[in-house]
Amino acid sequence: MNTNQTITIIGAGLCGSLLGLRLAERGFKVSIFEKRSDPRLQLGSRGRSINLALSDRGLRALRLVGVAEAAQQIAIPMIGRAIHGVGELLPTFVNYSGRQDEHINSISRRDLNLLLLEKLQAHSNASVFFEHECKLVDEDARTISFLHKGAYYVHAYGVAIGTDGANSAIRDRFLDQANKNRFDYSVKFLEAGYKELEIPAGADGAYLLSKNHLHIWPRKGYMMIALPNMDGSFTVTMFMPFEGDSSFGAIESDQEIVSFFEQNFPTARQLMPDLVADYRANPTSSLSTIKCHPWVLNSNLLLMGDAAHAIVPFYGQGMNASFEDVLVLDSILDKCDEDWKKTLDMYNFERKIDTDAIADLASDNFYEMRDGTADPVFLKKRKLELMLEQKYPDYFSKYSLVTFREDVPYNLAMRRGRAQDNLLMEIAAMTDLEKPVDLLQIKNRIDLIQF
Ligand SMILES: Cc1cc2nc3c(=O)[nH]c(=O)nc-3n(C[C@H](O)[C@H](O)[C@H](O)COP(=O)(O)OP(=O)(O)OC[C@H]3O[C@@H](n4cnc5c(N)ncnc54)[C@H](O)[C@@H]3O)c2cc1C
Repeated sequence: MNTNQTITIIGAGLCGSLLGLRLAERGFKVSIFEKRSDPRLQLGSRGRSINLALSDRGLRALRLVGVAEAAQQIAIPMIGRAIHGVGELLPTFVNYSGRQDEHINSISRRDLNLLLLEKLQAHSNASVFFEHECKLVDEDARTISFLHKGAYYVHAYGVAIGTDGANSAIRDRFLDQANKNRFDYSVKFLEAGYKELEIPAGADGAYLLSKNHLHIWPRKGYMMIALPNMDGSFTVTMFMPFEGDSSFGAIESDQEIVSFFEQNFPTARQLMPDLVADYRANPTSSLSTIKCHPWVLNSNLLLMGDAAHAIVPFYGQGMNASFEDVLVLDSILDKCDEDWKKTLDMYNFERKIDTDAIADLASDNFYEMRDGTADPVFLKKRKLELMLEQKYPDYFSKYSLVTFREDVPYNLAMRRGRAQDNLLMEIAAMTDLEKPVDLLQIKNRIDLIQF
């Protein structure tokens, strides 16, 4: 247990607050700087509710600091997808797993962040400085300049970790020093952007759609999803290209908003009384995959979470992967006897293969959710997978490997999952599920796959 060294963290979002909490538990002195104001002081104005899917990798990391149960108490289990076809009054329900106890959880980003911050601030060796925006880093002098209430404050650090999200200011310093450090950096924007909307609760807080599903309206080229909130409402996210025929750019007037939704999402439209106001008020934001490496500069500055690997949200894994980062760093600290130089090197070397894998899986899943969920062969393949999962305890679909097998690294889940998918799509195309299916033969073929 180290009680002398101070670790500086920049960004008290999901990754930074979990990281700070874990390092404080280990006995480090932790200073976290966050550009936003203290969310605990804004309880009156809750604003829009943005929710996220929390799954087993994230829960495993939360368990490390003893908050997994508390998180589950403020989350809603989602057992599968409810797929809403065009012109269909009722959705098709497709479970995430053939096993009864496997589900993901819809949780409010803000409430989860608050849970972590509150637990963190109970530690006397941890301090969070809100309204401190990182502006400048000098890794040679080991100083970071923060803008606080109009004035600059220069902070001296020993080891600093940037968990300041997808638009990281810390990562900008790595870019400035790219030649010195041979820093590889790529950003790939998706052609689609997103906009958040809402299906409010019904009378007495009733859920107007099935509460325990992630709802999807796949529409070839664009889609809408909805996740439940604790108060009976659903946060709806519309994913659509910025330009082209069916695009954000093609919808301008209030009348165009209404007719687009009435034509393409008629059942959801009826549940969205504030559609036009929400559509106008909420921004259309872009989505990108950011890959970069190395994540360590000068042996004293490290990137983690979205700052190191921002991914598109279609596997519901960005936060889960960022939480898993903390778990991986924690185990490497053990292996390296809390020698930070060795820890940073080993983390930098070992973690990248897995965050690259989840980045690629998340990009693929955009097309699966948008188009695959409306494809009859894909739906047959999902049925086969669920049958296999029900019958064989050692069979896990690609989705289950990523989502429910926190013991399987992302890169292994990707390789095994993709190989299984290829075979099962082939089999599904030739199989009539109305007739008896020889599951044992399929399982035997899966077991022979090399990946
Ligand atoms: C539409 C959408 C849906 C998503 N859905 C899911 C999902 O269902 N499941 C899932 O696992 N993931 C999901 N994600 C991904 C998830 O939101 C991120 O992966 C996660 O928030 C990463 O955590 P982080 O702490 O690294 O970054 P963030 O949560 O972005 O936190 C960064 C923090 O740093 C602060 N900061 C930024 N700049 C500075 C600065 N210069 N100085 C000081 N502080 C700074 C910010 O204010 C913020 O508090 C989704 C993302 C999007 C966009």
